[in-house]
Amino acid sequence: MCDRLLLDSMLGTLSTYLRMCGYDAAYVLAGTDPADDPGDDAIRRRAVESDRTILTRDCDLAARADDALLLRSREVTDQLAELDAAGYDLTLDAEPARCGSCNGAVHRIDAGASLPAYAPDPAETDCWRCRECGQVFWKGSHWEDVRSTLESV
Ligand SMILES: [Zn+2]
Repeated sequence: MCDRLLLDSMLGTLSTYLRMCGYDAAYVLAGTDPADDPGDDAIRRRAVESDRTILTRDCDLAARADDALLLRSREVTDQLAELDAAGYDLTLDAEPARCGSCNGAVHRIDAGASLPAYAPDPAETDCWRCRECGQVFWKGSHWEDVRSTLESV
């Protein structure tokens, strides 16, 4: 199973879940504005050049791509169930590897590091930082929400 994925512009929420499961889940939009959608040809080209499987809700795109999985559901929990049925392992990573926001690689923060005010004390709580966007992560309530959602699939 390929763990390098490219998600179309309708699957932004799903990308966050997949990254937390350790997938290299790129999203076609850099921002969140659907008007920035690069179009099917550009998506197919990018998938081939970066060796990724396309996940899409667009039948035409899925049919014309060499390596694509068509998702039919609108809700993220149903999309996760479709991926599970297709054989994707949807287990939350014990050690986070990917930034849920931008798909950058994350690294463990030293216990003595100083963190932004929104983060817990790294001496008491394991924290990770994204090498790309700088966001700090820990296994807080959001983590538990994602875990319970994945377990319900
Ligand atoms: Zn990031």
